[in-house]
Amino acid sequence: MAICRARSLLTLAKLPHSIRRISSSSTISSHMEKVGFIGLGNMGSRMANNLIKAGYNVAVHDINLSVIKMFSDKGISVKGSPMEVAEISDVVITMLPSPSHVLNVYTGPNGLLNSGNPVKPWLFIDSSTIDPQTTRKISSAISNCTLIDKKDHRVTPVMLDAPVSGGVPAAEAGTLTFMVGGPEEAYKAAKHLFSYMGKNTIYCGSSGTGSAAKICNNLAMAVSMLGVSEAFVLGQSLGITATTLTKIFNSSSARCWSSDTYNPVPGVMDGVPSSRNYDGGFASTLMAKDLNLASASAKEIGLNSPLTSEAKDIFTKLCDEGHGKKDFSCVFREFYSGKDEL
Ligand code: NAD
Repeated sequence: MAICRARSLLTLAKLPHSIRRISSSSTISSHMEKVGFIGLGNMGSRMANNLIKAGYNVAVHDINLSVIKMFSDKGISVKGSPMEVAEISDVVITMLPSPSHVLNVYTGPNGLLNSGNPVKPWLFIDSSTIDPQTTRKISSAISNCTLIDKKDHRVTPVMLDAPVSGGVPAAEAGTLTFMVGGPEEAYKAAKHLFSYMGKNTIYCGSSGTGSAAKICNNLAMAVSMLGVSEAFVLGQSLGITATTLTKIFNSSSARCWSSDTYNPVPGVMDGVPSSRNYDGGFASTLMAKDLNLASASAKEIGLNSPLTSEAKDIFTKLCDEGHGKKDFSCVFREFYSGKDEL
């Protein structure tokens, strides 16, 4: 596996001048052997585990001591702050809840950027779902740093925004989809690293485009879930069962992921959150957060986005009413008062 990894890292030879110089002084593989991982929650702990299984030398940090203990009990190196992780890592991956957490971990006291220069990691990958504006702010702060031992050469570290789709089961199975923004050469160099955590990586463009792709995806997913739920409830009120309506949607123009893969009506489909009391899926709080990000982004560029606002209000209300931990498809039951299928 290590040989395989070293081979793929030959893509570093194609990096632009500033990054290529990092690789010229020692073996290529040494520039991605040591991976720091920060944010070991539902997603991050599983992603870090997959890198450990693949043989990477991983050091971790989280503010939650119980999750840290799980890693130290396995003999994994744990660090007391993001700065300590950065001091020993070639690459650092962050998987945190929201923009404020990410900003704090990068630019806060004892943060990854150590309040300035120089830093050791040549690559920072943020897989959190955050807004593109915050991503670009951090990317710019990173590009203002120099690399340790490269002070004479103005070599700068780089950042990739690489949020994921697929949820906890895909994080566990290593089958996530990564949407990646940032320098394309860095993306090519990191592709192999992604392959141990995911099965698809899609390059989106310059810095912030991965974050943009993720919030657009989740906006469309929220609106389609609301549309399908509203239609099922209307159908139930008009005397059509959700099972019949699902068959029709799935062979007609209304077919979508919310109707054919993640149906929100309890009793229509097995193995989805609606079949287990909306437990164990994508929490409504995370959906509300992502819609807030989409709404703020739309506002910032002056885009008229009525469905974003409406969806944000509905999911915020769901959370306020105590359903924040339930899968977001619970909107069918809790917001629309839809009925279970018998
Ligand atoms: P989580 O809340 O389970 O985990 C976040 C972790 O970050 C926690 O362990 C927390 O202690 C840690 N953390 C918070 N602040 C920190 C700090 N300052 N320093 C160090 N650690 C800190 O969240 P999650 O479900 O793993 O999601 C992480 C990100 O992935 C979010 O942005 C989410 O929107 C996104 N995402 C989640 C899913 C999902 O299904 N859960 C799917 C796709 C994307």
